[in-house]
Amino acid sequence: MKHVVDVAVIGAGTAGLAAYRAARAAGARAVIIEGGPYGTTCARVGCMPSKLLIAAAEAAHAVHRAPGFGVHVDGALRVDGREVMARVRRERDRFVGFVVDGVEAIPAADRIRGTAKFVDAHTLDVAGQAITARSVVIATGSRPSIAPILRNLGDRLVVNDAIFDWEDLPRSVAVFGPDPAVPFPKAIRPAIPHGKC
Ligand SMILES: Cc1cc2nc3c(=O)[nH]c(=O)nc-3n(C[C@H](O)[C@H](O)[C@H](O)COP(=O)(O)OP(=O)(O)OC[C@H]3O[C@@H](n4cnc5c(N)ncnc54)[C@H](O)[C@@H]3O)c2cc1C
Repeated sequence: MKHVVDVAVIGAGTAGLAAYRAARAAGARAVIIEGGPYGTTCARVGCMPSKLLIAAAEAAHAVHRAPGFGVHVDGALRVDGREVMARVRRERDRFVGFVVDGVEAIPAADRIRGTAKFVDAHTLDVAGQAITARSVVIATGSRPSIAPILRNLGDRLVVNDAIFDWEDLPRSVAVFGPDPAVPFPKAIRPAIPHGKC
């Protein structure tokens, strides 16, 4: 099948969806092409689940700090890693569901599944379908970059694509990438001893 459109957007992430909607709002004929799962990096493996994990860490941290405010929690503080991760996954799935609903509200004819490859400056090939577009928006996001020094860690190296599917918290974890979005703020970073914090 051949599509001829004004705008072809590659990538149905946050940026691609915004570009597609802007093109449509301006009256352009547009399609949006996605080669991976719908739901966006932000909702599936980025901003949203990381903030859910950070929220759990902050809850534990607040309890740690509470005595300084004259607020005492009698008994030991216990972090249940399975419960923490079950909530992260449950809420993450709910958020992803909202995003997927939004994508599925886009007319089916405008949604193209498959990996886009440039044939020339105005032509894309997506799983054998040719798409000719006046303009192409490349909104293909990014992938984790693994420094050479970390490459021999095997399955001990976990990137954000997998971390939010953990069923339990690890006993300890080293975090590389000191960004506010890294899902282990100080409160939880050094180690989560099983059963205690
Ligand atoms: C742990 C973590 C926490 C974060 N926290 C925050 C935060 O708090 N605040 C914030 O602003 N940002 C945050 N970010 C960054 C944010 O998630 C990303 O910047 C944003 O999701 C990128 O959106 P995007 O649309 O550019 O890419 P994506 O959402 O990744 O979408 C790109 C899409 O393109 C598709 N694709 C790629 N190549 C092709 C191809 N050839 N053909 C078809 N489809 C293709 C991919 O499958 C993907 O679905 C965080 C990121 C991470 C990893």
